[in-house]
Amino acid sequence: MQIHTLILQHEDLSQVIFYTLVIILLWIAEIIFCTTATVRKLRHTFLNARFILTALPIQLFLTSFVILVMNWDATHHWGLINHIPFHRNKWVFYISLFLLLDLGEYSYHVIMHKIDFLWKFHLVHHSDLQVDVSTTVREHPGETCIRTSFLILWVFLLGPNLILLMIRQVFQTFFNILAHTQFRLPEPVGRLLGFLFITPNLHHVHHHYQLPYTDGNYGDVLSIWDRLFGTFKELPVQSTNFGIDTHMDPAINSRFIPILKIPFQKLKRKVPVEQ
Ligand SMILES: [Zn+2]
Ligand SMILES: [Zn+2]
Repeated sequence: MQIHTLILQHEDLSQVIFYTLVIILLWIAEIIFCTTATVRKLRHTFLNARFILTALPIQLFLTSFVILVMNWDATHHWGLINHIPFHRNKWVFYISLFLLLDLGEYSYHVIMHKIDFLWKFHLVHHSDLQVDVSTTVREHPGETCIRTSFLILWVFLLGPNLILLMIRQVFQTFFNILAHTQFRLPEPVGRLLGFLFITPNLHHVHHHYQLPYTDGNYGDVLSIWDRLFGTFKELPVQSTNFGIDTHMDPAINSRFIPILKIPFQKLKRKVPVEQ
């Protein structure tokens, strides 16, 4: 059996293997090139890694529905893509769907910040006081459920195919993990790449503990949506402090069970800050 056939047949497992490899490689690179004390980093990684155990079964279970919905779309010629002019041209097909899926991720992220009930789940990701590659997997199981359900809905509405979805997944995984690393691009390179892509420099601004920066740079792979919808934010590295103003207590946000309880507690409002 050819390798690409094998990958296509086990799409969910291939995703997990690719995700794990990229995370491990970048985690080792952080140990080598960044100055964080190893014991502190190991403790932090161990905490965030526990979220993989809650996310993995949900992710694998719901991904099978993504495939089901996509196959239903294909059989019934359903989906927005069928109404895009020249969609039978493969370039139009792939580029349009890539952009629309990225717009979907942007919209999902905005919704998670703007609806109180959803924010209580998403703030778990923001409550990390020490953003590094392990922050990528710091996601409340409730959010894993909401995120994958949103993807199912978006796939249903758009009608992509499996190859496009996998290409998209590779880009998304890579950009998402890279955005959380401790590495910063040199300012001119960051600015240049930031015209089009979400770089670590830009995502670090999203992890700044205070408004208006927390509610900016929602993009997933591309930064164009933030520029288009006025949510693009910049902040120098020396002014960036990770966390979220409502949950800065390490006694809570560095312990697994108290973190899991956050969404079920009374909502604390982010403090508006004058720009
Ligand atoms: Zn966010
Ligand atoms: Zn993040």
